[in-house]
Amino acid sequence: MAHPETHPRIEESLRRLWEEDVVPALSHYTTIPCLSPAFDADWEHGGHLATAAALLANWGRTRRVEGLFVEVVASAGRTPIVLAEAAGTKGATGTVLIYGHLDKQPPLGTWREGLGPFSPVRLGERLYGRGTADDGYAFFAALGALESLDAAGTPRPRVVVLVEASEESGSPDLAAHLDAHSTRLGRPDLVICLDSGCLSYDRLWLTSSLRGNLVATVGVQVLTEGVHSGSAGGVVPTSFRLLRRLLDRLEDPVTGEVRLEELHGDVPPQVAQGAEGVDWRAADVFPVVPGLTLAGRSEAERLVRRSWLPSLTVTGIDGIPSVRDGGNVLRPSTTVKISLRLPPSIDATRAVTALERVLTDDPPEGAAVSVHVETPANGWVAPALEHWVTDAFAETSMEVFGNPPGSLGEGGTIPFLAMLGARYPGVPLVATGVLGPGSNAHGPNEFLHLPMAEAVTAATARLLAATATRSRPPG
Ligand SMILES: [Zn+2]
Repeated sequence: MAHPETHPRIEESLRRLWEEDVVPALSHYTTIPCLSPAFDADWEHGGHLATAAALLANWGRTRRVEGLFVEVVASAGRTPIVLAEAAGTKGATGTVLIYGHLDKQPPLGTWREGLGPFSPVRLGERLYGRGTADDGYAFFAALGALESLDAAGTPRPRVVVLVEASEESGSPDLAAHLDAHSTRLGRPDLVICLDSGCLSYDRLWLTSSLRGNLVATVGVQVLTEGVHSGSAGGVVPTSFRLLRRLLDRLEDPVTGEVRLEELHGDVPPQVAQGAEGVDWRAADVFPVVPGLTLAGRSEAERLVRRSWLPSLTVTGIDGIPSVRDGGNVLRPSTTVKISLRLPPSIDATRAVTALERVLTDDPPEGAAVSVHVETPANGWVAPALEHWVTDAFAETSMEVFGNPPGSLGEGGTIPFLAMLGARYPGVPLVATGVLGPGSNAHGPNEFLHLPMAEAVTAATARLLAATATRSRPPG
């Protein structure tokens, strides 16, 4: 086992808070199938997002945090948000915005015996269940940080915690919520995003970049109804083959390299340098089958590939029966859903144009091709952070783990950061999180590494305290 369980030095009160208050409430949250709207068309009627929002809000209202106000903001047709606001302690200035989300990915795959997406299971330091790590823990960590500061009488700034419910669908509702609450959010002095990852569980990790994401549905139709494959096979081109040809326009089928020039950006030299010497092995992190050849010649190159190169994944398919039900028929159509990860610096809107052009120009054999692209999500490159921010983060990592923090580019996407960066240029944004080795957000057997969650809570508290006491630039 490459990553032994860790025993960080967390303050006793924080550990008790997690054990006695957070784990039971987070377990309850885990039972709610509050899937993101993209995976639950009936979400509004089903009410699971509202149930989860109410659970968080009610838990928040029981916290011993001075001047805390928690509400669920809901309007028809739009996913709710949970907003928690705590006035700053006497004499403290500044505002910190903390972000998380409560919507979940679907179960996706068969979970291990004894585990299930909506039945929380605690095994040692891990709390298994969908949404525990991505990103249910965030609200608890944010308010836990506030509570621990208030218990210790540590000055802290005004804090606004915003937990949205459309993140896993590309945050289509977030911009409207940010607009509606812009006065309340103000111009934050610091933004903390608790939805990111970590490369190991032996230190804190600061996210230096995120990839963007294009989600699209691509369909190829060749017939108006299915016909005998013995009769039409060899004459009517199959939709599967033509779809393969379309996908081959996007990526090299042998190497997996994305072929669209517009989707490639320059990798900053410090990214490759930073990846050298990081203690990380892809074969330990991902549950690969024995003998599988991974892309990249070294672990460092793999770290760069997963954070700064585009990549294509087919995530869903329609028009094909299950293997058991497959008959000898030449099917009328095949449709796939794709997720195309974009380098951090690529403009997602330009990528959409390139994608649509390459898929719809010159349809193979004149087949009917349909392309539907969902809201594109930009990647993000972290702004340079001032010392009071990086120092607070580093001190927590040293104190809790005895190790300095790491910094890495993550391969996932958090639309919030690109949105916030565009709204408040120059505002320091700290993205960190618990999605580490094996935690498997979006796949089966997702777990929250509890010591890491406690450490992130401690880091959040330290960052809040630092905001209240930092020396302001003159003028
Ligand atoms: Zn997430």
